Amino acid sequence: MRVLVTGAAGFIAHHVSARLLARGDAVIGVDNLDPSGDVALKQARLTRLGTLPGATGFTFRPVDVTDSPSLRALFEEMRPEAVVHLAARVGVRAPAGTAQAYVDANVSGFLQVLEQASAARVRHLVYASSSSVYGAGSVPPFQEGAAADHPLSVYAATKRADELLAHAYSHLHGLPTSGLRFFTVYGPWGRPDMAPLRFLQAIRDGTELSLHGEGRMQRDFTYVEDVAEAVVRVLDRPLPGAPRHRVLNVGRGEPVSVRAFLSVLERILGARARVKSTPAQPGEMDATWADPSALERETGFRPRVSVEEGLTRLVAWFHEQSGT
Ligand code: NAD
Repeated sequence: MRVLVTGAAGFIAHHVSARLLARGDAVIGVDNLDPSGDVALKQARLTRLGTLPGATGFTFRPVDVTDSPSLRALFEEMRPEAVVHLAARVGVRAPAGTAQAYVDANVSGFLQVLEQASAARVRHLVYASSSSVYGAGSVPPFQEGAAADHPLSVYAATKRADELLAHAYSHLHGLPTSGLRFFTVYGPWGRPDMAPLRFLQAIRDGTELSLHGEGRMQRDFTYVEDVAEAVVRVLDRPLPGAPRHRVLNVGRGEPVSVRAFLSVLERILGARARVKSTPAQPGEMDATWADPSALERETGFRPRVSVEEGLTRLVAWFHEQSGT
């Protein structure tokens, strides 16, 4: 199958692309190498993809998904049969003055992808939503049927808007779409702005790390290989008939506090963190907790890598990368 993967230089897309290539799919990777993230890391991920099993099936195009003529030309040239849309401006803590950039990338960009995917009549469009759509007032464990209409950040609002747009396109154009609500994803080649790698780096360097809200927030940390497996399983199973649109949680269903997560990391590293407590950040939810049963019902799969196992693998990768 020819699969267009947007955000291909990003963290999750890296693992999804590797998995698709390994099973013999052709992957057309698209990314604008957004400078709001770590561009050197994005380039390193792309270089690595070119060395993995099935790498001859990988093509990269530096396209911005908001650039409608370039995206249309790409669809016409490459004729993808399915799309995994992971490109986005990420992070619930948006710096002041960046709301428009979030809406541009996450809503307008997604709209262009929906347009092209509909016109090309792809067999399935799978796209990244987020646990943040549950916002305020959702009762844990979060189920997909919850209202999800009290977002706490612009980022969460853009992800919810994507779900609504996808629903409309599925209804109007018969485009099969699946929105995946990822819960705090971590693992090798991860994002340095997220807690797991921030913590790891700070413990290694002996520098102080900030623990927001004393680390009492609960997160349903989900290992990236589990997430990649879930994406591919869902991709292979578009809904056969109406409504043709669904959203599914991709999380383990076993939240832990950020403090407990840090303790596991300290134990694996055999070193203590120097912790500075900082106030809880606006935009952050107190707790995220997936109910993964719909994903399991529809794909036979649920994320299974424990925090202990996932962090052990992350630390092994980190040592290998840093030569320590
Ligand atoms: P990431 O930042 O590593 O990857 C996103 C990629 O999209 C980046 O490489 C970036 O350059 C690219 N991009 C941004 N704007 C673009 C544009 N206009 N055109 C083309 N490319 C563009 O983030 P990630 O953690 O891999 O997240 C992947 C997806 O999953 C995102 O949609 C994110 O919102 C969602 N998500 C991630 C998590 C998580 O814990 N990592 C949780 C929930 C949802």
